[in-house]
Amino acid sequence: MKINSPLEAYKYLPATNCGKCGEQTCMAFAAHLIDRSMKLTDCTPLLEEKFKKKFKELDKLLEPEIREIEIGVGEKIAKIGGDDVLYRHKLTFFNQTKFAYDVWDTMDEEELVERVNYIQNFKKFYVGNFLTVDMIAIRSVSDDPERFASTVKKVLETTELPVILCSFNHNVLKAGLELAKDRNPLLYAANKNNWKEVAELALKYDVPVTLFAPDDLDLLKSMAKTFAEMGTEKLVLDPGTFPTGKQLKQTFTNFTKVRRAGIDGDREIAYPIMAVPFTAWMAHDDPVSASYWETVVASVLTVKYGDIMILHSTEPYAMLPELHIRDTIYTDPRKPVTVDPGMYKVGSPDKDSPVLVTTNFALTYYTVESDIASNKIDCYLWAIDTDGIGVEAAVAGGQLTAAKVKKGIDESGFDLKKDTSHNTIVLPGLAARLQGDVEDETGASVLIGPADSGRIPGWMEKNWPPQKK
Ligand code: SF4
Repeated sequence: MKINSPLEAYKYLPATNCGKCGEQTCMAFAAHLIDRSMKLTDCTPLLEEKFKKKFKELDKLLEPEIREIEIGVGEKIAKIGGDDVLYRHKLTFFNQTKFAYDVWDTMDEEELVERVNYIQNFKKFYVGNFLTVDMIAIRSVSDDPERFASTVKKVLETTELPVILCSFNHNVLKAGLELAKDRNPLLYAANKNNWKEVAELALKYDVPVTLFAPDDLDLLKSMAKTFAEMGTEKLVLDPGTFPTGKQLKQTFTNFTKVRRAGIDGDREIAYPIMAVPFTAWMAHDDPVSASYWETVVASVLTVKYGDIMILHSTEPYAMLPELHIRDTIYTDPRKPVTVDPGMYKVGSPDKDSPVLVTTNFALTYYTVESDIASNKIDCYLWAIDTDGIGVEAAVAGGQLTAAKVKKGIDESGFDLKKDTSHNTIVLPGLAARLQGDVEDETGASVLIGPADSGRIPGWMEKNWPPQKK
């Protein structure tokens, strides 16, 4: 049984309101436990011997519906699963889908190292963060344990990213495990033929293992039950990824059925799900079609409900959509994506440079900043605290007001009269209606910029420097 209300969690807390967790009351802390913005260990009194039993009980009751599995070690450790809901707007999804790109044991060494380095160094800046990929999937194509081991060795020497060891031959897996055992790799995979041998490996080396039962959910569940009875719950379920036609629809249905059962409390199948969009390369001869369909399947199964996936295409046109859809699905709908409010310098502004106002909604801020910087415009960019809401909605909802602009200026310590030669603020076009009020509040001149930041360069040519009144 899992608890979902602060009142239920509160019953297990010391109820002293001591404040050591940073909250004024135990009830406030309980609310943070339920929305997972704080951890049980943040309540240090609960770690005392006398509360040991309650700690254990509450820890168990707070466990997510879908088990959380760790792959890899150290800073690069990949956590998958851990979700409590089917629909992200009901809470949020946790532990974004992990992308593993493949290498194979028939690659020559130079090609192998180059691909691993490409994968581990790939990054794209987006809304204040770098989007990166997570893992290397090492495939045995040769079916030769020695050859596989030498590929695993080279990969481990080249990267600290977590790895997936891929073969249905337990001797091949064992050869890789001997080298990778301290790196907590994921085994891929146990199936109806090899499950006993692979289970022995997973238990002996204490590593997570994928169970593979294509389009057979009964078998998948039965294998998961057997592995759990044998002593390991570090399981990942692969119901099969079929990349074309009706079977693609069936794949989607299977993923949804497994996740729904897990969220609804069927602990025997409540494990993270593995998707293998790589299978598109087996269904399409033409590399462009294969890459396209791999990206389509990856995107669909990122939304529902792939927790980890093995991919092949490393061209930016394949990776970028996958990374962007993942980033979108795994943002927390409870918290708008924000930047810290305040005054930012873009380029090397001086006294004659414009002072542009925007909001602290990260997507707005970085779009404006990028449009300005890429056009080499030196300016001050003021991110007003609108609780992370964009310009138009913030004006309509009262989060962007003349008083907020004045407050932002006062708190920054920037003096428009002293620090600029023009004492002028440029409001975004979508906030034009605030012009008079901002002039009254700040005593500065206010110009109205374009509604779209892409038009700032053209606007600057016509309107900057401002005419002296
Ligand atoms: S540290 Fe624990 S006991 Fe103290 S207020 Fe927070 S939840 Fe309550």
